[in-house]
Amino acid sequence: MKEWLIIGGGIHGTYMANLLVTKFSVPLDRLVILDPHDSPCMQWKIMTCKTGMTYLRSPIYHHVDLDACSLEEFMKSQSDKSWAVAYGKYQRPSLRLFNEHIDHVVEKAGLHECYRVGRALDITDRGSYLKVDTTTGSLNTRRVLLAISPTEDPRFPAWAAKLKAKNAPIRHVFDDDFYLTSIVPGFSYAVLGKGLSALQLALYAAKLSPGKTHLLSNGRIPIHKFDSDPCWLGPRCLEPFGKEKDLTVRRSIITNNMLNGSVPQEVAMDILQASAKDQILHVSHDPAVDGQFLRNGKFELTQSNGEKLVVDRVILATGFDHTCPGSGWLGDVITKLRLPLHSDGYPIVDRYLRWHRRIFVTGALGELEVGPAARNIFGATLAGHRISQLLEHSASSTTKE
Ligand SMILES: Cc1cc2nc3c(=O)[nH]c(=O)nc-3n(C[C@H](O)[C@H](O)[C@H](O)COP(=O)(O)OP(=O)(O)OC[C@H]3O[C@@H](n4cnc5c(N)ncnc54)[C@H](O)[C@@H]3O)c2cc1C
Repeated sequence: MKEWLIIGGGIHGTYMANLLVTKFSVPLDRLVILDPHDSPCMQWKIMTCKTGMTYLRSPIYHHVDLDACSLEEFMKSQSDKSWAVAYGKYQRPSLRLFNEHIDHVVEKAGLHECYRVGRALDITDRGSYLKVDTTTGSLNTRRVLLAISPTEDPRFPAWAAKLKAKNAPIRHVFDDDFYLTSIVPGFSYAVLGKGLSALQLALYAAKLSPGKTHLLSNGRIPIHKFDSDPCWLGPRCLEPFGKEKDLTVRRSIITNNMLNGSVPQEVAMDILQASAKDQILHVSHDPAVDGQFLRNGKFELTQSNGEKLVVDRVILATGFDHTCPGSGWLGDVITKLRLPLHSDGYPIVDRYLRWHRRIFVTGALGELEVGPAARNIFGATLAGHRISQLLEHSASSTTKE
């Protein structure tokens, strides 16, 4: 019998596993992290590599370890390495530094010992434990933590989904069959989207195929330092949010405060330079609303202003599906265990992120409780605080007994 099964070994699952092992001394043989990738945080590493990103958007204090200064100290300990750097006033770590630190934390906590490759398929409540069916057999556990995210479901506009279904070479940056190395000089590209991934990808393509790369964004690109106000990381915003009982109001607070599609000033400046000064990138704020795959293998895109654009390749950077992650297999579990859902399809959980007396959530699934930063790296720390409160409380009541 396992004590904990963490479903999803990404940023959130890794943070929580480290928390359970390091702070709550959960033995490694009583914990399983289940994820279809070969090693922890692979999904994160694959996604970030695909966008051509070199620095994180979040500061050096957001990472998968427990001590806020862990990544900063790790950077200092690696000062002889060219990648051990952080950028600007907010000390944004380089992607390589952040990823090396993940590996360091995984090794330090021994998490490779409890990491299993596979996918959860079903959960059955057996009263004193849960039985979890996975692609590699079933497992009995006292508790489950759901740490899955929408990153396996890239969002496609309907017209683009139709072209993709006909096998036209239209890709989403987070598709399994999209590689950064498939962008090569000579081809013309249309990158669709307006968030950080779209801009980073457009800059990457423009450098390889100067003058032949187009960025089509839906309206002007808002500039913000982070993707939500830092007040959502602490009590100033989270306390009033927690006091709001109406989940529909909470959802609209989340929607209004997630600055999706925004980019930091320095990336906006790079776009300006690439488009105005260097003239290697064409930027339009009239999005593509339709597209056709032509007989000569090119695409003809129709923009919202009626203009047509012909390019060799179309790459979408339009984010992820808005529906609750895991909808397929988790949908059946929700029905079977009668797990409460808000009308937006997201879990109704208590303040300790319990969805069921034995099932906890983190990340996107905990959004209605953790707020607009729930999906981010620091969202794992916020979720960890909540779950820790409950574990500390149960430990002290067991001691008293
Ligand atoms: C390009 C990019 C850059 C980002 N940059 C930042 C940044 O700078 N700062 C920041 O704070 N946030 C950033 N984010 C947002 C966020 O931190 C990441 O998306 C992060 O990966 C979320 O962590 P997660 O653990 O929730 O999801 P993931 O890292 O996606 O992990 C979820 C895991 O669950 C697995 N899974 C799914 N279903 C199952 C199942 N049935 N059984 C077992 N496993 C399953 C998936 O395969 C995956 O490995 C960025 C996101 C993207 C896409």
